[in-house]
Amino acid sequence: METIDTKTGILTINLAELGRNWRRLKSRMNFADCGASIKADAYGLGGDKAIVKLCKMGCKEFFVALVDEGISLRKALQRKSLDANIHVLGGPMNISETLVEYNLIPVLNSLQDMQYWKKKHPQALADVHIDTGMSRLGLSPNDVQLLRTESEKIKGLNICFVMSHLACSEDANAEMNTKQLRSFRDALSIFPNCKASLANSSGIFLGDKYHFDLARPGASLYGVNPTPGKFNPMSGVIRLQGKILQVREINAPQTVGYGATFQAKKKLKLATVGVGYADGYLRSLSNKGVGYINEIPVPLVGRVSMDLITFDVSEISEQLAYPGGLIDLIGPNNPIDDIAISADTIGYEILTSLGSRYDRIYIDDL
Ligand SMILES: *Cc1c(COP(=O)(O)O)cnc(C)c1O
Repeated sequence: METIDTKTGILTINLAELGRNWRRLKSRMNFADCGASIKADAYGLGGDKAIVKLCKMGCKEFFVALVDEGISLRKALQRKSLDANIHVLGGPMNISETLVEYNLIPVLNSLQDMQYWKKKHPQALADVHIDTGMSRLGLSPNDVQLLRTESEKIKGLNICFVMSHLACSEDANAEMNTKQLRSFRDALSIFPNCKASLANSSGIFLGDKYHFDLARPGASLYGVNPTPGKFNPMSGVIRLQGKILQVREINAPQTVGYGATFQAKKKLKLATVGVGYADGYLRSLSNKGVGYINEIPVPLVGRVSMDLITFDVSEISEQLAYPGGLIDLIGPNNPIDDIAISADTIGYEILTSLGSRYDRIYIDDL
């Protein structure tokens, strides 16, 4: 009987590995607590599933970018009768009632934010973000200077964490790290007895000095290497498999795909797979990507189309390369970081680009 199987890509997300990665990061820190950045739907892997899993593991501080993300994650927790702090990085302006309604903690990114929040919700928790070098959000060095003399601007705020964000943490030798650490410590001196948070994934690997009270890892939880160029201490969390739609033979001088960018020099066997750039299989992987069939690498030939890619499976037997068969696109043999290098991007973009057309399968221990 034919199975009703409408998808041409299978994305398997291993929540047990996600949990193990979180525990691994936590155990690297002697005193600091370990939170989790689960913005952008947990980097594309599914925020609802991620927050429930990590909350059950003991994670208590979650970070999102938008209030909408916070609302949907709050609801996901409530459905499982779970509770945790959810921090909204984007600030409180014009959404303060919603933040309070859903028990979300805003990150205050300016003196105006601080004043606004204090006036609107004097008792409600908030974080204060110090800009130590990103120049995106957060109190500027001038703002910090001003607060030294006008400390009444801080009084009346119920501060959860004072935080900042590192620009170059993946490079352990970058001078920027020590510079930002110094600025952050300097700013902390005007927030006595407040808890502090600085490190993202890679920041955790810069050592104790960078840990403060709470780390906010994201990418590493999902398997991206926080120490690029060195051994990846994290486990892969996702496996992406594409389904073979057709296997065909071509001969020289036939070409493959848009732009005819690949030309056969001899007889080849090709497998056409139903995944493309609309699914987040980046077009920059044209003529560069590699798939795996049973641990055997198969090169991607031609351009990545919207819904299709083609692999040279000349070396693969008919028992392994057949219509309906699967090719590993992301997995132990082709980890996110390797794909990112081929695609001239970072693992973060590979993850957050993963499309909505996959059959998403969540697995866990037990
Ligand atoms: C995204 C983000 C993080 C997590 O960074 P990773 O490099 O993914 O670990 C931490 N803090 C802030 C402010 C962020 O925006």
